[in-house]
This record gives sequence, structure tokens and C-alpha cells, in this order.
Amino acid sequence: MLGYNNKYPKDHAMNKRIKKLVDWLSDQGYSFRFSIDDRVDRETSTVKVYPNPNQQHLLYTLLHECGHVAILSNSTYKKEFKSLSVAEMKDNRHFRSNIYKYKLLKEEMDAWEEGKKLAKKLNIRVNKEKYDAYASKWFMTYVKWAA
Ligand SMILES: [Zn+2]
Repeated sequence: MLGYNNKYPKDHAMNKRIKKLVDWLSDQGYSFRFSIDDRVDRETSTVKVYPNPNQQHLLYTLLHECGHVAILSNSTYKKEFKSLSVAEMKDNRHFRSNIYKYKLLKEEMDAWEEGKKLAKKLNIRVNKEKYDAYASKWFMTYVKWAA
């Protein structure tokens, strides 16, 4: 959060939306910072998001990463996504397996949907059509990777 307002002093309404998410992350025990890519760093409990100059896209991406956090804090996660953690033990064969890809695609889609739910819960206004269009664009990059 440090330096955030210096970077984006103009769009106050958008800053407020993003601050709500940063506060929510803090409640989940996660910190937030800008980075070169978008991801949840589980080891340091940090959500990293690229400082996209397109504020809408920045918001959507942050919602998606928060969706990942929501999934991670779900108690059934470990069971459902067992194959993902196995794959993360750098089993290369498993990494290319259908079950791994299937679970990864599901988690990606779930994270977008969780992000949308979270926006609703926190009263963050989101254009659902634009959000879904953005989500599907990113989701398809995973589909292409998996195919
Ligand atoms: Zn994701």
C-alpha cells in the first residue's frame, strides 16, 4: 500500500475500491504490493499486482488475485486441489498431466468468480460484462497453454 496514492492520485473513486481490497487482504493476513507480475506469493502471504495504468483492469486483476486468496483460505482447498500441490513439488510428468491442467483451469476460473463475489460483498462496483470479458481473455491464455 505504501506509495500507492502517490502513483494514482487522480482517480479517487477507484483508489477507494482498491483500498477496500487491500484492507480485505490485510484481514486475511495478506499484504499487498505492486510488482512486475500478478500473483499470490504463498510463502510471504503477499498479493502482487502489476501497476496497470488501466485502472479498471488493475481492479479486475486485483479482484482475481483476491479470489485466489479466498480459495486458499477455504478449508476444502487442500483436498480439492491436491493435484496442484503435488505438481508444485516439481514433478514434471504430473505438471503436464490432464488432471493437473484440469485443476489449474478450474482454480483459475473459480478465482475470477470468487473475485466477482468479493466485489459484491465489499460493495465494490464492477461492470460485470467488462469483468467477464477481461476474465475470459486471461482464462483463454491458460486454456491455450493447457491444450
Ligand atoms: Zn489466477
